[in-house]
Amino acid sequence: MDFYKTRVAFLIFMSSVCISILSAQEQEEVVITIDKLSNDVYMLTGQGGNIGIYIGQKNVFMIDDQFDRLSSKIKDAIESLTNKPIAFLFNTHMHGDHTGGNASFNNDLTTLVAHNNVRKRVMENEQKKLDDKKITQEYYNKMLPEVTFSDDITFYDGEETIMAFHVHNAHTDGDAMVYFVNNDVLHMGDTFFAGRYPFIDLNSGGSVEGFINAHKKALMVIGEETKIIPGHGRPSTKKELEEYVGVLENIRTNILTAIEAGKTLEEVKTATDISSDYDNTYGDGFIKPDVMRETFYKSLKND
Ligand SMILES: [Zn+2]
Repeated sequence: MDFYKTRVAFLIFMSSVCISILSAQEQEEVVITIDKLSNDVYMLTGQGGNIGIYIGQKNVFMIDDQFDRLSSKIKDAIESLTNKPIAFLFNTHMHGDHTGGNASFNNDLTTLVAHNNVRKRVMENEQKKLDDKKITQEYYNKMLPEVTFSDDITFYDGEETIMAFHVHNAHTDGDAMVYFVNNDVLHMGDTFFAGRYPFIDLNSGGSVEGFINAHKKALMVIGEETKIIPGHGRPSTKKELEEYVGVLENIRTNILTAIEAGKTLEEVKTATDISSDYDNTYGDGFIKPDVMRETFYKSLKND
């Protein structure tokens, strides 16, 4: 009983620590920084997923929008680059740190575009908020992608061709990458976590195999000079992506070997040697080595 009480007290203490960390993060002054990647394409970083901005002949094509609370700062950053209106806002997938600003950016001039499953999952998430009266019906409507596709969709703007294509069951079940052919910039959404272990959302249709295949598809599309916008992390090169997919494949091999040897989830989670070659380089992000090993195990065990 005493143990139980101590444990409950500890859990309450931990959850209040977590809440205060979260609110401190939310309150902290977020600065939107801008990287120019090519003539017409920029990457915006604030909090949450990296934003891609293409300034076209008459309009802006925007990729992802971070959190709602940052929308006015993000709009200011875009206005510092151009006064052209945003014609399209593309969601690379459904997570709230990439779609949170949808309602703020959705107006008569801006059309929201995403894969079919993004619309389905955003609907599910927003429906819960609507039921709990946390959002209005109008806000709910404005959160939803208005044009969806199943495999790919192409946009044309003068000399530029913008190809968006779906990759199956990678980070989620609704991921799409966006390639600006002439500017030679690829936005990979969260199918690429530059310089850190990936978050693969198994509960939203993600899988290790699909994640690795997504990298391979990206490598087929891009060239030696292509600039890559990862979902999280700094702008990257083809060489860095090749190196990263090599690391994921080696870890996959090690985990499959452990599964074949009959290791349990707990054993794999604690077996630091499985990923020790890479932990110093990639294990410092949001996904720690043990969580990464757990995700790989669960996903590969099911295949
Ligand atoms: Zn994500």
